[in-house]
Amino acid sequence: MDATPVHPSWLGEPGSTRDVLYRLLVEGPLSRSALAERLGLSAASLSRVTKPLLASGEIRETPDRHVGPTGRPTQPLEIDADRHHFIGVKITGTHVYAALVNLRTDVLASAQAPLESTEPQRVAELVALTAKELQEQHPVPVSGLGVCLGGQVLDGGEVGYAPFLHWENVPFARYLGGHTEIPVTVTNDLNALTLIEHWQGAGQGVANLVILTIGAGVGYGLVINNQLIHDANAGLGQVGHTPLDATGPTCDLGHRGCANVMLSIRNIETHASVSLGRVVRYDEVLQLAEAGDPLARAAVDQAGFALGRLLTIASGFAMPEKIILTGEGVGLAYTAADAVEAGRRQDRERHATAIPLECIEVDDIYWARGAALAAMQQPQP
Ligand SMILES: [Zn+2]
Repeated sequence: MDATPVHPSWLGEPGSTRDVLYRLLVEGPLSRSALAERLGLSAASLSRVTKPLLASGEIRETPDRHVGPTGRPTQPLEIDADRHHFIGVKITGTHVYAALVNLRTDVLASAQAPLESTEPQRVAELVALTAKELQEQHPVPVSGLGVCLGGQVLDGGEVGYAPFLHWENVPFARYLGGHTEIPVTVTNDLNALTLIEHWQGAGQGVANLVILTIGAGVGYGLVINNQLIHDANAGLGQVGHTPLDATGPTCDLGHRGCANVMLSIRNIETHASVSLGRVVRYDEVLQLAEAGDPLARAAVDQAGFALGRLLTIASGFAMPEKIILTGEGVGLAYTAADAVEAGRRQDRERHATAIPLECIEVDDIYWARGAALAAMQQPQP
């Protein structure tokens, strides 16, 4: 297990220079006094750091002048986010979603394409083609191509196991490198999501952060002391086998009431369909529960209670300041909010402070921006 600072390596080595660039990227234009205050630097020290950055054009004064609190006009500093561009791609079991972004991960062009085959070389060709299409839409030099997918990604961009693509030991970074000149980075999709969420999303400024996703399975991402925690086994869905309900059904591996079987969309649908005596889709289960159907409500609340227990387990082991919940199944947390809360309380020491939970909905391009951010983390060639 190792850790990567949640700062693009394109900002340079740790130190005041990188801190200045990072603050300006994350917060936008800032006056010199605000910047000095945020970084705990004196005006003279800040000036020493910013002088070479202004000279090189990496940062600049914004064109608009403001009148500062002392009545003197000030010109806020901003970063030139368009000095470098990256492409991020999310590969799902059915599509590729791609975005061309600048250093601030502003989306300058985006595209999506259906996967006609999950054969690795065909997917590599499609990703390269989609990247080329983005560069045609927005012609700029691209410094890195980041790809994320659900599964285990080993050193060198080899995909150890990706269940949705039916891949095992696929040297995907090498395949993709055969179709493009852009340096390639392959990462687990939860890593990509955690990076972007910490960088610009609901996790901004949170030093210790847990991200959980529910949907097809259960995903987990972790930031400790502003470092994204990497693990060789990330993407294998280990958290999904956490036991949550001794009376629940069993998963494929025979675990009774594990997170996968309690929280996955497919299993919630199955549970509700059996109770209701007809096939119901996930959205309908949630709607029925909200409309007061007791059978749908029971299915949803059993899952919600299990989710609450999982949140408390995550709080206990990771000691985060905040938990972010997302994924295609996140609607459960709204519909079963009371059951989630009850599940959280049941296992939590009653004197312990409540860890804030934020539920968010994100689209595929957002994950692609995270993949671009993973490419930015790579050392500059
Ligand atoms: Zn299991």
